[in-house]
Amino acid sequence: MATLGIPQNTIAILQKYNFNFQKKFGQNFLIDTRVLDRIIESAEITKDDCVLEIGPGIGTMTQYLAEAAREVVAVEIDKNLIPILENDTLAEYDNVTIINDDILKVDINKIVQEKNNGQPIKVVANLPYYITTPIIMGLFESHVPLKSITIMVQKEVADRMQVGPGTKDYGALSLAVQYYAKPEIVANVPPNCFIPRPNVGSAVIRLTRHDKPPVEVKDEAYMFALIRASFNQRRKTLLNGLTNAGNLGVTKEQITEALEQMGLPATIRGEALTLEQFGELSNLLKA
Ligand code: SAM
Repeated sequence: MATLGIPQNTIAILQKYNFNFQKKFGQNFLIDTRVLDRIIESAEITKDDCVLEIGPGIGTMTQYLAEAAREVVAVEIDKNLIPILENDTLAEYDNVTIINDDILKVDINKIVQEKNNGQPIKVVANLPYYITTPIIMGLFESHVPLKSITIMVQKEVADRMQVGPGTKDYGALSLAVQYYAKPEIVANVPPNCFIPRPNVGSAVIRLTRHDKPPVEVKDEAYMFALIRASFNQRRKTLLNGLTNAGNLGVTKEQITEALEQMGLPATIRGEALTLEQFGELSNLLKA
């Protein structure tokens, strides 16, 4: 199969099927073989792996995944792409299953059960940027058995996942990702590696699932409610932000006492707290 990573081959397929890009689906197809090689290499795909690909497009990365993995399941929302994948670009691979559906509606746990006996899978994707956060959080929160997630995202979002306290990018996404996984940016990818070109820079980030979260919390959902409340009112002190939230079931006095117990000043802002400190605060307030 001639690789679609070469721009002329992608253009030939798009013309053959008279394909119209749908902006609402975040369609930017990769046309750079070096970036494709880098993604496959960073995801460390082997013939033991079952891979879930979100949004195969015309199947560019799917071809690479099919060569490297034992099994690939590709979920694509755009019905106009299905005949291209089934009859043309992926026709010669018998280890690829194509599902025409919205990834946010698919039962991924069921796929893992059927295709990999419930054993951890790898997720690899050049994500549609308009739903990056719900896809990642959905994968983590529904406790899909996962080894890693290797994804192309907007550069700014990759930065947000990786940073620690005290920076402007630090927020609820950084903490959620770092609770579940170790993030590592493995490549920066400029707009000219895609057709059509996106308006933003992109990055490939690998999230390696922790065996055990780095903090022990009594109630994960409560800690995440606390984190969201802390960053909802970024310019307020943590004390005021949490008091105003109204859904945490604690008084201003209880929060003051907990901060004191942790040796933190009452004037501290949420963006200064580490994941470990959010864990500790959540355990104190829940008690
Ligand atoms: N993997 C291809 C590549 O690298 O060239 C295409 C990547 S493109 C950035 C994102 C793909 O995700 C598109 O094919 C788009 O149709 C698909 N997509 C968008 N929203 C989706 C959803 N909710 N569920 C599944 N696929 C979706």
